[in-house]
Amino acid sequence: MAVLLLAEPDEFSRQALTLARGLGEVETVSIGADAGLPVERAHVAEGLGAYAPGAWATALEEVIDRVQPSAVVAAGTERGNEVLAHVGARRDLPLAANCVALGDNGGASPGEPLTVTRVRWGGSLLEEARIHSPLPLLSVAPHTVVAAEGAGSPAVETFTPALSESDLVVQVTEHVDEVANGISLAEAKVVVSGGRGVGSADGFGILEELAGVLDAAVGCSRVVTSAGWRPHTDQVGQTGTKVSPDLYIACGISGATQHIAGCKGAKRILAINSDAEAPILASADYAVIGDLTEIVPAITAELRKARSA
Ligand SMILES: Cc1cc2nc3c(=O)[nH]c(=O)nc-3n(C[C@H](O)[C@H](O)[C@H](O)COP(=O)(O)OP(=O)(O)OC[C@H]3O[C@@H](n4cnc5c(N)ncnc54)[C@H](O)[C@@H]3O)c2cc1C
Repeated sequence: MAVLLLAEPDEFSRQALTLARGLGEVETVSIGADAGLPVERAHVAEGLGAYAPGAWATALEEVIDRVQPSAVVAAGTERGNEVLAHVGARRDLPLAANCVALGDNGGASPGEPLTVTRVRWGGSLLEEARIHSPLPLLSVAPHTVVAAEGAGSPAVETFTPALSESDLVVQVTEHVDEVANGISLAEAKVVVSGGRGVGSADGFGILEELAGVLDAAVGCSRVVTSAGWRPHTDQVGQTGTKVSPDLYIACGISGATQHIAGCKGAKRILAINSDAEAPILASADYAVIGDLTEIVPAITAELRKARSA
């Protein structure tokens, strides 16, 4: 039996493909155009406009009915989770979100519960779950599985899903550009992030300057967005963006588990904090203990000096 993967042309779907392959032969379902993943068969829904979770779920359900898969997988992105949640709610099926691995019975035979490991509580614990379902729905936590490589030239089957008005009740009407300095937080190689220790919205000026020198994106903690110093789109953490840069510079951030859940994918963390006992030091690769209003401008000045030399 085939495994269906809701696929978009991005790294997250490639990561989900790796996990889905452990369940059987994968066929992709994409909206608008083939996602270009290395699979044998791709189903492409045509005639859909802007993203509408109900419409995507209907498209996916049409392929489910046609293919009768053994499982349905999506990337654990906001879209992937949202579309699978719609399918689960409509069909009264459980959804195991944020899976990171399959259990020993990855290719469980029909009737047997499928076992998976998934991240819970913002990444602070791993849960082993048994899914008792005639059709397991799984999403794959971003950055936890190696992405499948290679380009695909699958046999593409296009179809036009029969949408109802209710499928379009929720749909994207406008895109607001979140990209600062042309660098998106989720994809930045360097992130300069600030917490309560920055002190104010204006205090972020020195972080912006450092980010400019490093071609970095600026992020922040939830305290900062709650205070209105930065927009919610800049928030890193369990309820914000998950980042995986080469370097994450945490300035005046204490390192609450909910914040670390968003930045633990970073290759290196540099903490700048006045408190030598701050919890972030347990996650940091490098630390500078001191006042960020002195340290951040000093780093910027040194970088500028080094580059002009
Ligand atoms: C359900 C839930 C979800 C949450 N989701 C998120 C989330 O997605 N992201 C998130 O960030 N938080 C989240 N939180 C909140 C989280 O628990 C913390 O409250 C928050 O991360 C703390 O932010 P902070 O580190 O900026 O502030 P604080 O914890 O107050 O830390 C400030 C730090 O700044 C340092 N500091 C102060 N002045 C200076 C200075 N001049 N120079 C250098 N260092 C200085 C201090 O030593 C301290 O370590 C969530 C909480 C809950 C309950």
